[in-house]
Formats: sequence, structure tokens, C-alpha cells
Amino acid sequence: MYNSFEELKIACLKCTKCPLCETRNNVVVGVGNEKAEVMFVGEGPGYNEDMQGEPFVGRGGQLLDKYLQHINLDRKKNIYIANMVKCRPPENRDPAESEMDCCIQWLREQTKLIRPKIIVCLGRISAQRLISKDFKVTQQHGQFIEKGGILFMGTFHPAALLRNPNNKPQALEDFLALRDKIEEICDHTY
Ligand code: URA
Repeated sequence: MYNSFEELKIACLKCTKCPLCETRNNVVVGVGNEKAEVMFVGEGPGYNEDMQGEPFVGRGGQLLDKYLQHINLDRKKNIYIANMVKCRPPENRDPAESEMDCCIQWLREQTKLIRPKIIVCLGRISAQRLISKDFKVTQQHGQFIEKGGILFMGTFHPAALLRNPNNKPQALEDFLALRDKIEEICDHTY
């Protein structure tokens, strides 16, 4: 248990709990407002994120920022963004279960400090780990599910939307539903 984000970051930046530490350039802890009521969780850093030390800074990240902007969310102001694993899996492969097992403690500590009301899972990997093992993004996206006092919602991963733009209107609907939910239950996001 960490008392401050500073302590957590210092420890996380030194992490050697799994083999991903051997090939990383940077630990990508997260970005945003540490008092945010809304948190987004992706999968893991890619090439650009590993080089820059910030989540979602590549083409997928630019698309994510567009959706966020559409509902007045901003990674520098009123949300927090993190990933299931903090170090880049080589060749952009999915993070292994064992790597997520090692890393999830960091996400738990982040969640304990931030105390978000809503967690949005970006894509299958985080939705299956945080919402339910058999979560199907195409069928269950946009639904809010309460777990341990936090509302979870899964939506399309930005990289998947770049590959399959047909799902963009549905993703937009999810973000609009998120805006409505924020207006309903959050105090200081808007
Ligand atoms: N994909 C993710 O899931 N997270 C990132 O930070 C970048 C790409």
C-alpha cells in the first residue's frame, strides 16, 4: 500500500517482477489526473508508448483523444489512463496471463489511490481481466457493470477501431453513454 502517487511511481519505475522489464525502454505507469473520477485501462504499451513513457501516444492514442475530446474529457485534466501491464510486450503481442498477474498489483494500487467511480476498459484484454473472463466486446460494449463499488464499462480498443472502422459509430455511442453516466454520478469531472 502506497500513501502517495509519488511513492507508487518511484517503486513502479524500478519494477523487475516480470521479464518485460528486460526489454523495456520506459515503464509506462499512467497519465492524467490522480484525483480523476473516471479511469481508462488499456492493454499495454506499444512501441511509441515504450519510447515516450506515456500510454496511448501512437495513432490509436490520437483516435482515443478524439473520442475523449468529443465528450469533454482530457487526459491532462479530468481522467486517468493506465494499462494492464506497464512494460511493452515485445513485438506488440498480447500480454501473457503471467505478466498481467505480476503487474495487476500496480493497477490495484493506482485504483486505491485514485478511487475512480467509473473504469472504462479499452478492449478485450482489460475487459476480460477486470469485468468478466468471457467478456465479448462486440456484444457487451457500452454496458455498465457494478463491481466492488465501481462501475465498469468495456468498449472497443482504439487500435481495433483503426483496423475495423465499421465499429466507430458504436464506439461513439459508448462514449456518449459514458458522458451521460458521468453527468449522473460524478461530482467534479465536468
Ligand atoms: N495500446 C494499449 O492498450 N495501451 C497503450 O498505452 C497503447 C496502445
